[in-house]
Amino acid sequence: MGAIGPVTIRELLDRLDVAGASLVEMSEILERALEEPASPPWEDVSGQLLTHPEKAYPVRELAEIDTVVVHHSGPPTDQRCTLDAIAAWHVWGTSDHKVEWPGIAYDVVVYADGRAYLVKPPDLVGYHCGEWNTRSVGIVLVGDYSDSAPPDAQLEAARQVISWWRAQGLVTQIKAHREIRPTACPGELWREWVPRLWSA
Ligand SMILES: [Zn+2]
Repeated sequence: MGAIGPVTIRELLDRLDVAGASLVEMSEILERALEEPASPPWEDVSGQLLTHPEKAYPVRELAEIDTVVVHHSGPPTDQRCTLDAIAAWHVWGTSDHKVEWPGIAYDVVVYADGRAYLVKPPDLVGYHCGEWNTRSVGIVLVGDYSDSAPPDAQLEAARQVISWWRAQGLVTQIKAHREIRPTACPGELWREWVPRLWSA
């Protein structure tokens, strides 16, 4: 049986055209539906955000990817930080710190209330973890978790995103940003909450 994700049998039946079907036909329809992947646990806004007018993301084969790298956005950001603001920082930086990447650095952005957005397709190489960029997808939890853990809704949404990637065979391991690069990201309490994102 395929993974159906966060879909109840009732929702599945409502989605399928089973009115008037015999029991055998209905079971065949359900079998086929269960083989199909559920829809991904994010809103796809990739291609809708600011990109650099001259630079382009490097392209990669999905088979090159094996790792998901976990980030937080702060400091100095907070949980209200918009996707447009993040993209603008990554394309133009600030007056103090010029960046000029091709576009937003991450693959998925997750907010404290559990909203999740795909911001870059995974076949484009991101800019979130140095020499690990080519082999990884990046997920950022918006907020400053330097000394606190993200809220449950945010952790659960991130777990669903990573679970989707695992089911697709895209990633086989998880790393906190600070495990692979000299950075404090995603905060001091990462050992307490990053493993939760890899639970079944
Ligand atoms: Zn980071």
